[in-house]
Amino acid sequence: MPDQPAPGSGRPDSAPPGSGHPDRPAFSGSGGFLTGLGVSQGRAAGPAMRMAAPPTLPPPRPVADPAAESSAVAAALEAVAADLSRRAAGASGEAADILEALAMIADDPMLLEDAQGRAREGMDAAHALDAAFAQHRDTLAALGGYLAERAADLDDLKHRAVAFALGLPMPGLPSPGHPYVLVAEDLSPADTAGLGPDVLALVTERGGPTSHTAILARGRGLPAVVACKGIMDVPDGTVVGVDGRTGELAVGLTEQEAAEVQEADRAERARLAAGRGPGRTSDGHPVKLLLNIGSAADLRPGAEGVGLFRTEFLFLDRTTAPSFEEQVAAYAEVFARAESVIVRTLDAGTDKPLPFLGLPGEPNPALGVRGLRVDRLLPDVLDTQLDAIAEAARKTGAEAWVMAPMVTTTAEATGFAKRARARGIARVGAMIEVPAAALRAGRLLRELDFLSIGTNDLAQYTFAADRQHSALADLLDPRQPALLELIAMCARAGREAGKPVGVCGEAAGDPLLAPLLVGLGVTSLSMAPVCVPAVREALAGLTLADCRERATAALA
Ligand code: PEP
Ligand code: MG
Repeated sequence: MPDQPAPGSGRPDSAPPGSGHPDRPAFSGSGGFLTGLGVSQGRAAGPAMRMAAPPTLPPPRPVADPAAESSAVAAALEAVAADLSRRAAGASGEAADILEALAMIADDPMLLEDAQGRAREGMDAAHALDAAFAQHRDTLAALGGYLAERAADLDDLKHRAVAFALGLPMPGLPSPGHPYVLVAEDLSPADTAGLGPDVLALVTERGGPTSHTAILARGRGLPAVVACKGIMDVPDGTVVGVDGRTGELAVGLTEQEAAEVQEADRAERARLAAGRGPGRTSDGHPVKLLLNIGSAADLRPGAEGVGLFRTEFLFLDRTTAPSFEEQVAAYAEVFARAESVIVRTLDAGTDKPLPFLGLPGEPNPALGVRGLRVDRLLPDVLDTQLDAIAEAARKTGAEAWVMAPMVTTTAEATGFAKRARARGIARVGAMIEVPAAALRAGRLLRELDFLSIGTNDLAQYTFAADRQHSALADLLDPRQPALLELIAMCARAGREAGKPVGVCGEAAGDPLLAPLLVGLGVTSLSMAPVCVPAVREALAGLTLADCRERATAALA
């Protein structure tokens, strides 16, 4: 196993990819191949269609009637907001929320006022919109963290508004009138969230495994490949086969070959859907299969409980703190409906700031006050949340398991455990996301009842590679031996202490990695609901000894 798996292979060529995925054959297509990072389940094949390019702003034109330009500005923003709202109405869950949030940004009276002010001063509508969006973008970017991430969403809205003002079709998803594989440099949250049923799969040239594209595609069960260099050179209409698991792309398939890929995927999904029962290897070694959720709406049958309840997802857009009662209601709803639940206390900061906390901007947010560290500034927030979790458990009769994100030292673990236990919370644990914590797993387990390894952040901090940075996606590959060593170290500590150590990062939902993680000794795997059937099947096809063999090989 190389220490740096390469994410892309450049232009299409005729050599089959060295898949590195022994469980699955490469495409048997007659054309060339590309590779990227597979970020979801399943395979699909169909004609590639690229997203319409954003409009190019022409030189400013002289304005005879500023009032008309001002009205054109309003009409453009209204049209963009209406389009997004219409798509939100046709979507559901997380997708609908994202589209609604974007519609609200397009509807922002301050944005309208700014753009109309510029139009009244003599700018044409397209330039007024362009300038107003640029101003808003700079404001968001300066705030850093999650809000800076949202700056990219503004570009997408700007392109739509400017295109409307120029009388051009809004850039966005193609509508060829038949099923297709969507190809793009990158996809905005609005585009990913609004994908219609005619999209068979998606492939982007940029993006990382934890990008919005990846998370939303996984949530919808769409085959998706990101960081696929060379995909933008593939002409529209070329039939491509996409493997969302391995990241392999077959370019230039025949219609017959495409039909075979589609049929094989249908058969595979049907087989997976038929799987039932708890997670276990073929020789009966139990591995709990758990869900990662952001709210009760994400709960699905078929798993053995919730391994990661990302409570911050409940409050991402809040500008006022959620009350104790409100929190009790949200937690109780999950406790009442799931078999067992591990609640993670608020993981605020960097890519997930909570506006209601009012934390100051930081030059280096991923290394700053995030996760449990917020408690250093705002201890009441954790106290209220622990009170609410304890009360929700009392009300529902559930046994609450609670863990803190971004625990780094034993002292932090001890302090957290003391406060949780004082409220009668049954089981207290920590996420292992920082290498310092992994190295001290045994010591942490003297204070705690369990550990849950967050491979997304553990990879980010082990390889010093921003998890949002598409150019560094290869460093975040969870097969990296250094990461596996840390996971093995935690699992060993758990075994010695007789306490559970699970994985709840995205790696747990990868059916190729899951057996390896089991071989390393983890006792549970927590993942997006859509990933459960494939992971269950992968484990059921191997003995514990097979899993251990894979782990040993990967470490070597
Ligand atoms: C992780 O870091 O692996 C994790 C599960 O937490 P999040 O992705 O929410 O940061
Ligand atoms: Mg994390």
